Amino acid sequence: MRILSIHAHPDDMEILAGGALALLAERGHHITVVTMTPGDKGSNTLDQDQIAAVRREEARAAAAMIGADYLCAEFRDLEIFNDNPSRRRVTEILRITRPDIVLTSSPADYLCDHEATSILVRDAMFGASAPNYLTAADNPAKPLAGIPHLYYMDAISGHDRDGKPILPDFVVDVSTKFRLKWDMLAAHSSQREWLRAQHGMDDYMTTMEAWTKICGQRAGLAYGEGFRQYKGHPYPESPALQDLLGDCVHPPSVRVP
Ligand SMILES: [Zn+2]
Repeated sequence: MRILSIHAHPDDMEILAGGALALLAERGHHITVVTMTPGDKGSNTLDQDQIAAVRREEARAAAAMIGADYLCAEFRDLEIFNDNPSRRRVTEILRITRPDIVLTSSPADYLCDHEATSILVRDAMFGASAPNYLTAADNPAKPLAGIPHLYYMDAISGHDRDGKPILPDFVVDVSTKFRLKWDMLAAHSSQREWLRAQHGMDDYMTTMEAWTKICGQRAGLAYGEGFRQYKGHPYPESPALQDLLGDCVHPPSVRVP
């Protein structure tokens, strides 16, 4: 199967789905990682172009750890909006990468870029299979044969802007891949060092570890990642991702405060 992970910024995928994607890679599936932006606002010392160049390479290196391709959609931080030029751009990426399964950001999250990405991806997935939806690309890829399966990653910290929990449909046991997930996130050293200098501690890594443990606890696991399947008409409802991950998939049986 072909799997596309498309989230807003370099490091979001690593925090929310790095373990699940590592499991899928190990099982022989083809993975493309897309970030909407190159993380161009993520520095206090480098200008936008400089930090973007650094972070594209960090994202590429993290994706390479699981044998995944990497593409940047070249939006800019805090400048992702749900409009037609943006939908066309995301549609073209879908037609180029041709996924069977798409993992994207939660439609409710703490950051505008995450929410805008989620809506754009959902709607571009519809457009990608409509031959008359033209993307205005120079050399446009051909439309998809159908709408891929759509899954949302957890919101950062697992709640919406009002603090209301957003619970997953299922939790993936990523315990065997936690070390690799850690290394994938650590590849984003510009962000790790920035936060370490600001906070005086290794928050970047420890926050991810704490979150992956909380996700795991929801299903009685050491480490987990949560996902929800979008089943709105006419998106496919069959459990494609759950089937690929098999015995690593668990119901969220335990409520964690
Ligand atoms: Zn982000």
